Amino acid sequence: MTLATSNPLLTSWNTPYGLPPFASLQAEHFKPAFDAAFSEHRAELDAIASNLAPADFDNTVAAFDRAGRSLARLDGLFYNLTASETSPALQAVERELAGPVAAHTNAIYMHAGLFKRIDALYERRASIALTPEQLRLLERVHLDFVRAGAKLDQQVQSRYGQVTERLAELSTKFAQNVLADESSYRLVLRTEEDLAGLPDFVRAAARQAALDRGIADACVITLSRSHIVPFLTFSSRRDLREQAYKAWTSRGEHEGLHDNRPVAREMLTLRREQARLHDHANYADYALGDTMAGRASAVSDLLMKVWNPAKKALEDERAALKAMLLSRGENFEVEAWDWRYVAEKVRQVRYDLDESAVKPYFPLDRMVEAVFDCAQRLFGVRFVHQPQVQAYHPDVKVYEVRAADDALVGVFLHDNFARPSKRSGAWMSSYRLQSRHGADGVTPIIVNNNNFAKGAPGEPTLLSFDDARTLFHEFGHGLHGLLSNVTYERLSGTNVLRDFVELPSQIFENWLSEPEVLKKHARHYQTGEAIPDELVRRLEAARNFNQGYETVRYTASALVDMAIHSQEAVEAPDIVAFEAAELQRIGMPRGVGMNHRLPHFQHLFSGSSYAAGYYVYLWAEVLDADGYDAFTEAGSPFDPKVAQKLRQFIYSSGNSLEPSKAFEAFRGRGPTVEPMLRKRGLLEPAAG
Ligand SMILES: [Zn+2]
Repeated sequence: MTLATSNPLLTSWNTPYGLPPFASLQAEHFKPAFDAAFSEHRAELDAIASNLAPADFDNTVAAFDRAGRSLARLDGLFYNLTASETSPALQAVERELAGPVAAHTNAIYMHAGLFKRIDALYERRASIALTPEQLRLLERVHLDFVRAGAKLDQQVQSRYGQVTERLAELSTKFAQNVLADESSYRLVLRTEEDLAGLPDFVRAAARQAALDRGIADACVITLSRSHIVPFLTFSSRRDLREQAYKAWTSRGEHEGLHDNRPVAREMLTLRREQARLHDHANYADYALGDTMAGRASAVSDLLMKVWNPAKKALEDERAALKAMLLSRGENFEVEAWDWRYVAEKVRQVRYDLDESAVKPYFPLDRMVEAVFDCAQRLFGVRFVHQPQVQAYHPDVKVYEVRAADDALVGVFLHDNFARPSKRSGAWMSSYRLQSRHGADGVTPIIVNNNNFAKGAPGEPTLLSFDDARTLFHEFGHGLHGLLSNVTYERLSGTNVLRDFVELPSQIFENWLSEPEVLKKHARHYQTGEAIPDELVRRLEAARNFNQGYETVRYTASALVDMAIHSQEAVEAPDIVAFEAAELQRIGMPRGVGMNHRLPHFQHLFSGSSYAAGYYVYLWAEVLDADGYDAFTEAGSPFDPKVAQKLRQFIYSSGNSLEPSKAFEAFRGRGPTVEPMLRKRGLLEPAAG
């Protein structure tokens, strides 16, 4: 058979739910499939542009939204695989495709004939009969074209195209470099001395990681968050903590093949040029032009509202850490690799809360039942496991999502475990977006990825409370994709403004902390006993503990992101020197560290969706804290009326509504910032 006849990506997918034909895929299938999909999409766009009938909404804007089906399904497949289950062969294809994919995107948005029709409709939009969603789509598509350079003159357009193509290549390289540093590092622990302080669950996960890497009779700590953070929290070996912490925070910052410093610097230089071509002085201005915040000053106002109170809270925490050290007969300056360790000791004493005593109540399977149960109680949807359906890795579970009337709402893939072929972090993405295109409409296929350390063979995977929160967070994104109920794909699910996109995920975290949910689902993995009230009370009491530390780490990262993307010099600065200078300027407390340093800050440099946008989590937290208060005011976390509004205006509406209007429709008014400050324990006591 020739490649063309044996390539499953060049034929229709005769699979359950239209899932990709995972079992028969090979890396070399992708390039020819992408080439074919590019041509098909180009032909569809040419047909729209050369239509002899005058432009109307359906033959132009809706047709544009319907076009590119083969490419969309291929995109969904390829970029999910390169994130969740990559290989050297796929990575090579990814590098090879970065340029052509960006070139194709440019070809779409610089298609003069196509833009002419869209622009003409846009100019007449007030006088055409359109539904609100149609008007929203027309405005959205028009803005996409303008922001991608459609209005630039031809000479400038060709330079613009080069810039975006190079940016795409660099961002692929950036992510691959981080993964290379993560998968090449291992801290091998062989003796009881090496393992000092580590509770059983950390040892079990580390033994499993050693087995996965073919290392016998040892434990391995990797740079995956669910390994490194517990290690830093419990290891009493200060020297090993320092060694592991330095490896973790220097990812992307090593001379040689995987050095991200020149990669990031070139990206910053190109982004600034991109912004200039749009008549913006810097990239932050350009990026914020398409957000709820709108302007850099709105972002810094919010960040500064928390920065000083957070630093103050941090110093109180530091004093408690110092006192703890003294009481243990130790006296050293708390460094970044000590903070979590000493803080855990304070937590154990002050709240009588020991993480290894909490984890047995949070087995992964029960927490998965918990998210499904919350979704059913709030929105009436059921998740039904389909064990006979195989995805791309044996650990991935496939679920049907069914409405109360049993209609199929979508398909959900749950991929929970860390492995060397998966990038770090936790995220939601889609294989297929919901829309009403075609005769029967299109149901979404949504995936959640986590990086939990898998329990040893025969042992359950136990989550920390933070891990459980991550599970709920990503599941909130998942519901945003699954419950989407719009006509057009461009407005579907998580295709919303980026400072709105964390609202559905962050608000969902709240249900994990509800005593009612904990009592029902947080059950001891051996005895089945519900988590004791006393432990729930202590978890509750400990909620604001260490919030100064967490807020400083986050806000410092967000401030550095805003600062480096606000640079106006032609050449971007050396990123490491810039980061150090900026931290000094904002008065970064010592011994704390950032959530992400620039050389591995994938939010900013792997893709561009969070460049000048790391602030969005705090922005969304304002919305989520205020939004969740609606349930508190109604007297129940499952109040059906509030849940119905939450579904209608937040989870289902995608980008069919303007985000601040959507929030107002849900809440009955605009958001206020105080609930977020209160939740973080950062609200200054009222004067007087
Ligand atoms: Zn998120």
